[in-house]
Amino acid sequence: MSRNTELFERACRAIPGGVNSPVRAFRSVGGTPPFIARAQGPYLWDAEGTRYIDYIGSWGPAILGHADPEVVAAVQAAAVDGLSFGAPTEAEIELAEAIIERIPSIEQVRLVSSGTEATMSAIRLARGHTGRHKIIKFEGCYHGHADSLLVKAGSGMLTFGNPTSAGVPPEFVQHTLVLDYNDLGAVEAAFAQYPEDIACVIVEPIAGNMNMVRPAPGFLEGLRALCTRHGAVLIFDEVMTGLRVGPQGMQGLCGVTPDMTTLAKIIGGGMPVGAFGGRADIMAGIAPLGAVYQAGTLSGNPVAVAAGRVTLRRLAEPGFYDALHRRTGALVQGLVERARRHGVPLSGDWQGGLFGLYFRDTVPTGLAEVSASDLDAFKRFFHGMLSAGVHFAPSAFEAGFVSATHDDAVIQETLDIADRVFAGSK
Ligand SMILES: *Cc1c(COP(=O)(O)O)cnc(C)c1O
Repeated sequence: MSRNTELFERACRAIPGGVNSPVRAFRSVGGTPPFIARAQGPYLWDAEGTRYIDYIGSWGPAILGHADPEVVAAVQAAAVDGLSFGAPTEAEIELAEAIIERIPSIEQVRLVSSGTEATMSAIRLARGHTGRHKIIKFEGCYHGHADSLLVKAGSGMLTFGNPTSAGVPPEFVQHTLVLDYNDLGAVEAAFAQYPEDIACVIVEPIAGNMNMVRPAPGFLEGLRALCTRHGAVLIFDEVMTGLRVGPQGMQGLCGVTPDMTTLAKIIGGGMPVGAFGGRADIMAGIAPLGAVYQAGTLSGNPVAVAAGRVTLRRLAEPGFYDALHRRTGALVQGLVERARRHGVPLSGDWQGGLFGLYFRDTVPTGLAEVSASDLDAFKRFFHGMLSAGVHFAPSAFEAGFVSATHDDAVIQETLDIADRVFAGSK
C-alpha cells in the first residue's frame, strides 16, 4: 500500500473522513489525497517524496509562495517572544493600520482568526447597526460555515432559504434571502418587498467559491445604490479576493465602496487571521464600545499577526500585482490554448493571482453555467495533472491560485504537462 493511502486510512480512523475540512477529501473527484509533508515556493512534497506544482496555495493565503523565508523568520522571531498573551500588542496595531492604509473603505478593523468569524461578526454588526433581521446572500457565494449562511434558495425567488446542512434549524435561516448572483432585478424585488427589513447584502465582489465568476457590469454598482437607498449595509466578503486580485482587493478595481469588508486568508500569510472592518460609525457598534458582542481568545495573536504584517509589506512592492496578473494570464491562456488544440472545450478567466478554468466553451456568469460544465472532463484533467505532479483544486467549483514564486519556467512546465494530459484524455 502506498504511504499516502496508508496515512489516509489511519486519518480516517481518528478524523471524520480523514480530513479537517471537507474539500480536502477528494470526494468530488475520487481517489486518495496526497498527504503533504512540506512546501517551498510553488511546490509541495507529499509523504512519498513526490513533488507537485501547487495551484491551491492553501486556498489563497500563500500568495508569496509557500514558506517564504521572510515570513517564516518573522513567525520564528515572534514565537520566541511568546505565542499569545490575551492582551493588546503593538504588532496588532501595525497589522490593523496596514489593512486600513491599503483598503480605504476600512476606517477601523477588528482582527479575528478565520474568515467564518469575520463574516459572522460583520453580519451581526450590520444587524445591530440597522436594528433589522433580514440579510441577502447569493447562491454560489461562500461566506464560511455559520448557521445562517448555510442556505440555498427556496422554491420561489422571494421565499427564504432552506438549510444546506443538517443540524441547521430552518428557523436559523428564516431571515436569509438567497438570490442569484448577478441578478440585480431580484435584489430590487427583495428590497421592494421588504424595504425596511433588510440589514445587509453580503457578496463576494468576484465570486471565488463557485469556481471564479465575475460580477456583471453594473451589478456591484446596483447593490451599492440599493443599499444606500434603503439604509442597508453593503458587505464585500473579500476573504478570498482581498489582496489577491489587486492591491486594494476587488473594491479597488471596481471602484464600488462597501460599508464593510471581511478579510482573511492572505492577511494571515498562512497563519489563522481574519478581519472585519469598515465605516467607523458602524464599527463603533461592536463591544466594548457598542452593544454588539464579539470576542476571541487568540484574536490578533502575535505569531499570526507577524506573518500577516510581512506579507502585506511585500505585497506593496511596486509591480507586484502586474507581474502576478501577467503570469496568471499566461497560465490560463496557455491551458485554454492547449486544451482546444486537443479538442477539449475549456475556457478561463483570471485577475491578479486568482483564476478560473471551466470545461465549457464560454466563461460562466453564474452558478447554473458553472454547473453545466463538463465535470467528467474536469476529473480526467485533475487526475491526469495530479499524477504528473501538478496540484489543482479537487473540484470544478473551486478557483485556482498563483503565487509570486510561480515564475515563467514553472508555468511553462505546467503547460507542457497539460499538453500531454489533454492529448491523452480525448
Ligand atoms: C474561505 C472563505 C471564507 C471562510 O474563511 P475560513 O477562514 O475558511 O473560515 C469566507 N468567505 C470567503 C469568500 C472565502 O473564500
